[in-house]
Amino acid sequence: MNSIDMSPVRVVWIDLDDTIIDFHANSRAALANLYHQRRFDILWPTVDNWIAAYERHNISLWVDYSVGIIDNATLRLERFRRPLTEAGVADADARKLSPDLDPQYLDLLAQEKKLIPGAIELLDALRGRSLTIGVLSNGFADVQHRKIARAGLTDKIDITVLSDDIGVNKPDTRLFRYAQSRTPWPDNPSAHLMIGDNPATDIGGALKAGWQAVWFNPKRQPDCPEGAAEFASLADIMRAL
Ligand SMILES: [Mg+2]
Repeated sequence: MNSIDMSPVRVVWIDLDDTIIDFHANSRAALANLYHQRRFDILWPTVDNWIAAYERHNISLWVDYSVGIIDNATLRLERFRRPLTEAGVADADARKLSPDLDPQYLDLLAQEKKLIPGAIELLDALRGRSLTIGVLSNGFADVQHRKIARAGLTDKIDITVLSDDIGVNKPDTRLFRYAQSRTPWPDNPSAHLMIGDNPATDIGGALKAGWQAVWFNPKRQPDCPEGAAEFASLADIMRAL
């Protein structure tokens, strides 16, 4: 189903990471810089070995974080402590080092500005149609605001709603209702449309909240959630809206 009814839509919400900002590429560039600055070659023979170890732990920690098993601070420490101890660093040393690595990684990440192709064009096209443009993201407030500013997107976005604002993550309906409340259409779910790359959190959450949902699916994964529209590029989404 690839039809979108724009007639009731007043607010277009867009996920940030890997929908507007190429988080995947930016994170890998930052992790590679961290590897060289910290001389991690004594722990992992190649940059790719290090990135694979980090990403494996980070993904599983984000799963725990998104269901509330661990908090923000634990995630940010453990995503470095776990790969370090796995590579043979003594736990006491890993615990001492990890609190410095997260801010260093985030500083390096903030220097990377790669966007998803078509992101600026999509935001400008929405702006040209007098729609309100929101960002709805599960990221951490300090990190996400910095990323938006560094990518030069501040003026292209009207409202930024982050899971950190109320301590609840997508796909929880409460975050979508909170996002509605930040607009002039607080009680009308059909005035809201979500674009995102994650079928569970972005799309599943939006549909459950009664919003229209557009799945940005560049890898052409199977199993589009029922009721969502699906496109492989932002340019295709722009044409369909
Ligand atoms: Mg995303």
